[in-house]
Amino acid sequence: MTIAENVQQVQQTIAAARIEAGRTDPVTLVAVTKYHTIEEAQAVAATGLTNLAENRPEGLAEKQAALTATDLKWHFIGSLQKRKVKQVINKIAYLHSLDRLSLAAEIEKRAEQPINCFVEVNVSGEASKSGLKLAEVEPFIRSLVDFTKIRIVGLMTMAPIDADDHALHELFKQLRLKRDTIAQLGLTYAPCRELSMGMSRDYRIAVLEGATFVRVGTALFQ
Ligand SMILES: *Cc1c(COP(=O)(O)O)cnc(C)c1O
Repeated sequence: MTIAENVQQVQQTIAAARIEAGRTDPVTLVAVTKYHTIEEAQAVAATGLTNLAENRPEGLAEKQAALTATDLKWHFIGSLQKRKVKQVINKIAYLHSLDRLSLAAEIEKRAEQPINCFVEVNVSGEASKSGLKLAEVEPFIRSLVDFTKIRIVGLMTMAPIDADDHALHELFKQLRLKRDTIAQLGLTYAPCRELSMGMSRDYRIAVLEGATFVRVGTALFQ
């Protein structure tokens, strides 16, 4: 299939899942271009998608130099080293991988305006994954109270590769409930209304469980 056909297929799957879940709030499809060429990224943007994601500072710089349409919104979805923050932080619309206080402190130092951040959560507790444990999320967000450049827009997770459908529903639901808990705190710097969850293999289930941003790569480019 062409990239345009893939985009259409993914959007149809998202639309069907929204209906199945009785949802009326929007779902943003974020195209993950990290393993793909500039030409492929241009093809995806030509279909009308405006949210693009990279996971390395070098990849972001390369794609941004080539794709200059002003309506594009760039998402950084990889783990971010402190020394790379200044390269990236003022060039993105969303950071999906805030996972520690030292990173927040570096963002506070380097950002020119408040940055939309997702707190990355390791819901399954897999040792190999980055992200906070569910129980650490509220204390972490509370600890950001004095950071004027950090705006917590939501929570993000990556599901384990071997999770079955039942486990995926459960994981995504746990993140949604945590999102609700944080949103109800009423912290001005942490409206926390969004859920960044779902990749090529599990975005349908993520939308059923309330994802507002899905990060899809492989399914768009195969
Ligand atoms: C690569 C990546 C994705 C997209 O994965 P696909 O399986 O290619 O859809 C989504 N989120 C993160 C954090 C990633 O690193």
